Amino acid sequence: MRALHFLPALALVTAACGPAIRPLGPIAPVRAPMPELPEPPAESPPPAAPLALTDEEYLERRALMVPVEGVRPEKVPDTYWQPRDGGARTHQAVDILAKRGTPVLSADSGTVLRLSKNTLGGITIYATDPARRFVFYYAHLDGYASGLFEGKPVAQGEVLGYVGTTGNAPKNTPHLHFQVMRYVDARQWWNGPPFDPRPFLAQVGAQPGTSRTAAAVPEQQ
Ligand SMILES: [Zn+2]
Repeated sequence: MRALHFLPALALVTAACGPAIRPLGPIAPVRAPMPELPEPPAESPPPAAPLALTDEEYLERRALMVPVEGVRPEKVPDTYWQPRDGGARTHQAVDILAKRGTPVLSADSGTVLRLSKNTLGGITIYATDPARRFVFYYAHLDGYASGLFEGKPVAQGEVLGYVGTTGNAPKNTPHLHFQVMRYVDARQWWNGPPFDPRPFLAQVGAQPGTSRTAAAVPEQQ
């Protein structure tokens, strides 16, 4: 009689455990997608291999594209050392003249770090290369390309925005202010040591699939 008396209690325990166990089921599928999170945080150290190169060697291998459509490397004026603010600072960037609305292209593949507006640069973009070793700064834009967002992976030559005169650019001189800096601080991209991009601009500004003259893309004649 005693054993029989306990049977219903056992059944109750089993029934109570049932619903408690069932929610544990999805735990396995939840863990499964974990390896699908390859996007490194901004402060992740760059891959080891590129660091074996000097900064200059690395930039040379990136074969940067002139970030304005249709502009050849030799046509980018040497404005890097020009005085600014009455001689208080040097420009440490290049100004690439183009008609308003000309596509601004990504100089390298990589990732968009920040879209921001400020009084000097106007509408601007900070982006980085695949190893997050350099910061590319694009300023005075007329606007952003549609669908651009912070964190977006970009291809070399991808349209990021359009040439304009926002910020302190003369309203009758649309141009892209293009600046290259070493990526040393994940929060202050503008503070890295600057590099004159001209020696490293190796390709004509051209959107992917439309290049006719880029050195890296042989053209059948
Ligand atoms: Zn400038």
